[in-house]
Amino acid sequence: MSLEMFMYSGSAPGKDLLVLGAVHGNEKCGTQAIRQIMSRIESGEIVIKSGVVRFIPICNPRAYELDCRYLTEDLNRMFYEEGGVVSSYERTLAREIMQAMDRCHFVLDLHSFSSGVDAFAFQDTQDDETRSFVSALGISPIFTGWDSMYAEDNSGTTITYVNKIGKIGACIECGQHRDPHSVEVAYQAIINAMNYLGIIETDKISQPEELKRVQMHSFLPKLDGDFVKSWMNMDPVQEGEVVAVLKSGVSVKSPCSGYVIMPDAQAKAGAEWLYYGTDD
Ligand SMILES: [Zn+2]
Repeated sequence: MSLEMFMYSGSAPGKDLLVLGAVHGNEKCGTQAIRQIMSRIESGEIVIKSGVVRFIPICNPRAYELDCRYLTEDLNRMFYEEGGVVSSYERTLAREIMQAMDRCHFVLDLHSFSSGVDAFAFQDTQDDETRSFVSALGISPIFTGWDSMYAEDNSGTTITYVNKIGKIGACIECGQHRDPHSVEVAYQAIINAMNYLGIIETDKISQPEELKRVQMHSFLPKLDGDFVKSWMNMDPVQEGEVVAVLKSGVSVKSPCSGYVIMPDAQAKAGAEWLYYGTDD
């Protein structure tokens, strides 16, 4: 099996960027934005000046076809070294994508979410190079502290792997899965990233007036029950406020005052139901 990867080089040496779309099969805005950029590179409308940009438009082809997040295992939890046999379709994909990440210095991973409106970005590490790369993407808010929420500092995401091998990565959530604006957000983030790295030169960059930073606090795994309301990403929440009620009648309360992040009412049992965040 081989994923489709496309590579465009400038005439001068320079930075090396890998852009990933549809790591989750039902998150197609990145794929569409990548295809728009590729067709503009091929038509000469976008000129690659220096360095290299690589695109994997669809990282999970079977889930993409079925319009689902993944088949057997969440691909974005599979990026870690593993000996022995490959256990699932997604592990096979992860191996191939890790090889592509090994060859690049910068990685931009494009996602979308199920409920909410506005885009956001993840900055997993606090070093200056990562901080300035994520800031250059033009997306606010920026969520920090992802790694510290997971045991053994390895949640198996694309970006945890990128960081582990000493490279620079950003993951962005471009908007709601089916909102056409998500494609524009993904498109602009790729343009901003290529411009920041000197791969292209353009005046078509965009930056928000203010970059807001939110510290990820913890996550709530999916339990047998329901949210008390249709939580939206970045809804404010108070410490002690009830966020969900279980079938047993037990209320689940927020451990902090801040925001509900990436609520997913459809999460499978044990998977991330929602995250909590506080102002950074
Ligand atoms: Zn995703």
